[in-house]
Amino acid sequence: EVRLDRVSRDFGALNALRDVSLTIRRREFIALLGPSGCGKSTTLNCIAGLLPVTGGAIWLDKSRVDTLRPEERGFGMVFQNYALFPHLNVRQNIGFGLKMRGKPKAEIDRKVDEALNLVRLRGQENKLPGQLSGGQQQRVAIARAIVIEPPLVLMDEPLSNLDAKLRLEMRAEIRRIHNELGATTIYVTHDQDEALSLADRIVVLRDGVVRQVGTPKELYDAPAHLDVADFMGFRN
Ligand code: ATP
Ligand code: MG
Repeated sequence: EVRLDRVSRDFGALNALRDVSLTIRRREFIALLGPSGCGKSTTLNCIAGLLPVTGGAIWLDKSRVDTLRPEERGFGMVFQNYALFPHLNVRQNIGFGLKMRGKPKAEIDRKVDEALNLVRLRGQENKLPGQLSGGQQQRVAIARAIVIEPPLVLMDEPLSNLDAKLRLEMRAEIRRIHNELGATTIYVTHDQDEALSLADRIVVLRDGVVRQVGTPKELYDAPAHLDVADFMGFRN
């Protein structure tokens, strides 16, 4: 399990996150949902270690991780803009993290093959990112994040650069991959539909504060505040 214990992050006088506490269970798919500027990416970057917290602690099972470097935490990250290496082909992009970790070639090949199957990119492995569609590039980014078998996968608006049709298709793919793999996942989005259709539980953030945590049904049946109901679109 992953636990945030009163995590805060300030940018000068701005409290981007205030006492965010949250427990994410093993294999759970959590959506971090809220309007632009509410602190979603800040939360994710603090968990990943790309941004130091200014208060509180982050735990992975019994280990405190907020003091560790990102590579020591070893979480899988998927970004909005894919962040693929343009000069490496699909196979090399996916295998990069394993190679960095000094894994033997046979193991890299086997794990990359498994990941290629999982994201259904078989046959594309020798192409460069520039020769792929947006959805295919995002599949590469997902494969690259999960191939290292991370204890936690973090995704920051991974579908927002895709057109509406592809977005729906990839949404289903992300859920399928999660079901097959069962990796604990935190998925950042400002799209209520996406959160409702993907997540086991949704964390509603606003102004750096957790407003409510619950299953889609719990949020629908008993929104904690009118603004939550409004934001979820339950009051129209
Ligand atoms: P979006 O949906 O637009 O991506 P978000 O919920 O991810 O928004 P954050 O990027 O976490 O929002 O930003 C939260 C707040 O912190 C915002 O007010 C933002 O302006 C501020 N902020 C984020 N990064 C920095 C930074 N490096 N320096 C100063 N302020 C920052
Ligand atoms: Mg963001």
